[in-house]
Amino acid sequence: MAPGRGRDLLLFIALTIAGTQLGGALGHPGLGLAGALFVFVALAYARLLRLQRWLYGNPPASEPPVHGGTLGEVADRMNSLRNGLRRELEQSGQTVARLREAYAVLRDGIVMLGPENVIEWSNAAAGELLGLRYPQDAGQPVVNLVRDPDFAHYLGAGDFERCFELEEANGRALELQATAMGERRKLLFVRDVTALKRLETMRRDFVANISHELRTPLTVIAGYVGTLAELMPQESPVVARALAQMQQQAVRMEHLLRDLLLLSRIEASEGDTGGDEQVAVCAMLESIRENALAACNGERTIELGCDARLRLRGPRLQIESILSNIVFNAVRYTAPGGRIAVSFGVEDGRGVFRVVDDGVGIDPVHIPRLTERFYRVDKSRSVDSGGTGLGLAIVKHALKRLDGELRIDSRPGAGSTFACLFPQARIEGVETPRVS
Ligand code: ADP
Repeated sequence: MAPGRGRDLLLFIALTIAGTQLGGALGHPGLGLAGALFVFVALAYARLLRLQRWLYGNPPASEPPVHGGTLGEVADRMNSLRNGLRRELEQSGQTVARLREAYAVLRDGIVMLGPENVIEWSNAAAGELLGLRYPQDAGQPVVNLVRDPDFAHYLGAGDFERCFELEEANGRALELQATAMGERRKLLFVRDVTALKRLETMRRDFVANISHELRTPLTVIAGYVGTLAELMPQESPVVARALAQMQQQAVRMEHLLRDLLLLSRIEASEGDTGGDEQVAVCAMLESIRENALAACNGERTIELGCDARLRLRGPRLQIESILSNIVFNAVRYTAPGGRIAVSFGVEDGRGVFRVVDDGVGIDPVHIPRLTERFYRVDKSRSVDSGGTGLGLAIVKHALKRLDGELRIDSRPGAGSTFACLFPQARIEGVETPRVS
């Protein structure tokens, strides 16, 4: 038996004996017993009341007022639980304070958002970058203070894999990224990426300028090499071969400069919304097919299946770059006699351009890197085939401009499937379209 309960029992027995004897001495043992019971209950109730006052006390007293007995034990246990809880609270309070201190001095802005995107807390950097004031702005929806409809859409859409870019009127570029915290709360990180953007623009401009500047001298050199090759007497095979190789390399360089310029232009137009046309993809694919067949002397079969009523909204040049790069790659990486199927239609509401070939295929380890500039699976083979190594990088950037997505499925020796998915908003033409 617990010592507390033993003590209560002893007290109970002592009181009943004393009450009964006292009552017996007065000739009313029953009354004495009832009186003893009443005293026992009254004592217990008084202790209970003291315990209650202690529990609800504000500020709480440090030591419980009840000692000994069952109630004393309960009070001791409560006291130790309360002390433990207090210690834990103090520790977590210190941790939160330390975290807030660390967040407060960070150079990146941090905003804690509650339900309905209301500001719960923000650090000093968020104030500097977004103009938020804490604690004055706490409780306000962040979209009322960062007034950009696209930002409100970004927060509402819930796709936080990507960042939201905010260009300010003063030329400052901010990158905002939200992270979901539980069901209804978010953490918003804000970074100043102005310097990074400037560097990127400088790199792009440099590549574009140098490609542009190199074109004229290259055209002159290629022209003279051509003339020299024509004038060269046939009996100098070594010189003739050298000139032929020079001509070949000049053409490669021309293609390289053309692709570098195109890539710079596409990159520069990312985020632009102007220049969109309703492009008849089917007609465009017909002409690409003709050119691709001519390039391989008709040594591949290219089947074309597409819904002629469909239109894809976007910049014509970029759409053409996507289609032709993927079709020409299929021709390049498929042996003579191979079959290539090209299609354009609507699947699950999205526009889908797909090219399936039965060519050399690609090892899956290379697939994630194929859209990097100059990344090649087999360097020698792709140089032989006349590629510049920029085709899929162009496709990737042009697709970004069109809010599209590239999917590649391939196995070595089992051919490849390249599919470009376009959002429904960019497809026009028929009510219930389907791939024919
Ligand atoms: P390249 O000019 O070298 O073709 P790309 O950027 O167009 O450059 O393609 C990158 C690499 O992807 C190519 O070097 C090639 O190895 C691979 N590749 C692209 N398309 C195909 C395809 N249809 N079949 C097999 N490999 C392909």
